[in-house]
Amino acid sequence: MANFDDLLAANRDFAADFDLSGFDGIAHAGVAIVTCMDSRIDPLRTVGLKPGDAKILRNPGGRVDDLTLDALVISVHMLNVDRIMVVPHTRCAVASNSESALRQRLDGATGQDTSWLTLPVTDGQEAALQADVKRVRAHPLIPDTVQVGGFIYNVDTGLLTQEV
Ligand code: ZN
Repeated sequence: MANFDDLLAANRDFAADFDLSGFDGIAHAGVAIVTCMDSRIDPLRTVGLKPGDAKILRNPGGRVDDLTLDALVISVHMLNVDRIMVVPHTRCAVASNSESALRQRLDGATGQDTSWLTLPVTDGQEAALQADVKRVRAHPLIPDTVQVGGFIYNVDTGLLTQEV
């Protein structure tokens, strides 16, 4: 068994003064944020939101993949979302390494051939962001009334810059 004692102890403290009960699951600020799983990013705080306000969808690179699109459709039609932010970031590992470099690292770390594994690498972060935003806007189940923006989050300054 893995040891999760520290996390469970922290959870008991968290639950002791839990003030998020009785919530529904909709996005109260009408916002969905697609961003990277990078631990330097705190999506809600970045835009002044709090738990209950937004849907947060994370993956390596903050890319709009098929699963993300499915989640966005549900967010728009069932969970009150009418603004979607796509937010990759500076110094992202999947945007700053080539596929072969990442593959080599993964092969080394696992000690196995990982060529079958999908790596969401991009050699042009801005072009990928443009394409991802376009993909959301073009989705047949996401109406034009939903605003979609593409932003780069700077992990050194905390600032967002709108690109699309
Ligand atoms: Zn990243």
